[in-house]
Parts: sequence; structure tokens; C-alpha cells
Amino acid sequence: GQERFLLFSVTSFGGGDRLVFVRDTTREERLEQMRRDFLGNVSHELRTPLTVISGYVDTILGNPGLFNERLQRPLQQIAQQAQRMEALLKDLLWLNRIEGPASGRHLELVDMGGLLHELREEVRTIHPQRQLDLQLDTTDKVLADYRELYSAVSNLVLNACKYSADEGLVTIKWHRSGDKLVLSVEDRGEGIDPVHLPRLTERFYRVDNSRSSRTGGTGLGLAIVKHVAASHNAELHIDSTLGVGSTFTLIFPRSGTD
Ligand code: ADP
Repeated sequence: GQERFLLFSVTSFGGGDRLVFVRDTTREERLEQMRRDFLGNVSHELRTPLTVISGYVDTILGNPGLFNERLQRPLQQIAQQAQRMEALLKDLLWLNRIEGPASGRHLELVDMGGLLHELREEVRTIHPQRQLDLQLDTTDKVLADYRELYSAVSNLVLNACKYSADEGLVTIKWHRSGDKLVLSVEDRGEGIDPVHLPRLTERFYRVDNSRSSRTGGTGLGLAIVKHVAASHNAELHIDSTLGVGSTFTLIFPRSGTD
């Protein structure tokens, strides 16, 4: 008695002929679930040894008397790469989780102003020089899962900081437009060549791999943003001009309850 999901699509040809396609999606969904479980398990299993490696390297680095100074740089490299891997596994696990069944999602009316103030504090610890210009033109709340929304907005804001000079202004606006609520994140950074735009939100897609590795990204940030947008019925728009800057916009439906 397994539940089956059948997709029908009808294609018509001239002369009244019809072709009906029937696709059994049960198998696809099962495979997709297996893929997610596997990725989740692998990521989880890799975390434990990595924690041990980082822990020991940090302890050694904290006690310079323990090692020959020629080992300083290699040890720092090990620590740095272990940190990168930890960030990668964290993003992979998070993406895997939010791609899962919607039942884990907790929807509430989120005060975007509050979220942005919290985020500004976090950005301050990572980029102390950075000025964020917050323009809150509406107090409207958005129906969302707070953690998912926070992860999407923080990826956009941290990217805006990463891909522009320290003194470059990052402007974040929250406003109402008709029956929509709009969040935009604008930077005056390096911008993106239009050829990259169609693939930008794919997992691990990066405009410049070597540069992105230096800036410490995981290549999963925009895939997370895209996924959160889709699961919240929001649209993601990217406007960018090379050498001028980029604006990433999330457009949400108004929930009508506030
Ligand atoms: P990453 O971890 O590499 O930042 P993302 O998925 O967040 O991964 O972004 C994918 C790529 O898109 C980045 O590597 C970068 O090349 C480009 N990108 C994202 N945001 C910006 C931005 N604000 N300005 C310029 N390039 C950007």
C-alpha cells in the first residue's frame, strides 16, 4: 500500500491527436531522499574527525614551545584549511536540511528590521570597518522561517561585503511595493559579468575560483539564497554591472495579516 504520485502531461498534435505521458514520481522522490540522507550522513561523519584535527592544531599553535618555528606556516595552513572544510560542511548540512521536507520549517511573521539589526551586529564582528546603510521604509512583517530567512539575507549581505572594498558602502533596503515586500542588498563592488548570471546560484559555481577561495566562501551561499526564496514564494533578482556593483533583490508576497 505505498502511496504513488503520478504526473500526467498531455501534448497535443495537429489533427486532434493527443499523447499522454504518465510518470511515476515515487521512485524519483525516494532516490532524492536517499541522495539527501547520504549527503547528510557523509557531511556529519566528516565533521567529527575534522573537529579533532582543528582542535589539536589550535592547541599546538597556541603553544609555540612545542614545535620548531619552521612548522609555524604549515600548521597555520592546516588550521586554515580545516576551518574552510568546517564552513563547507556546515553549509552543505544546512542546504541539505532546508531542501528536506517542509515539515521542519517553522513559519512566523518575521520583523525584518529586527533581523537586519541582528545581522548588522554579526557583520560588525567579521568586517569591523564596514558601514552598512539600513533603510527600513516599512514595518511590515514577512511570513518566513526565521533561521532560513536569516541565512539567506546574511549570505547576500556578507557577499556584498566580501566582493567590495572595505570602505565600499553596502545599502540594505526593506520596503513595500504594492502587494509585495522587497529586500534589496546593493554594493559598489566588483560587479559580475552577465555571462555568469544564469549559473550564479548553482551549487559551487564561482566567477573566479582562486579569488573566491581566498575570500573564504564555500560556493554554496547563493544556492542557499535561491532555495530559501523558492520555499518562501519569493523571487530572487540579480542586477549587476562589472566594475560598478551589484544589487540582489528578494521579493516576497505580503502576507496580509499585518
Ligand atoms: P561564495 O561562497 O563563493 O561567495 P556564493 O554562492 O555566495 O559563493 O556566490 C557565488 C559567486 O557569485 C561568488 O563566488 C562570486 O563570484 C559571485 N558573487 C556573489 N555575490 C557577489 C557580489 N555581491 N558581487 C560580486 N560577485 C558576487
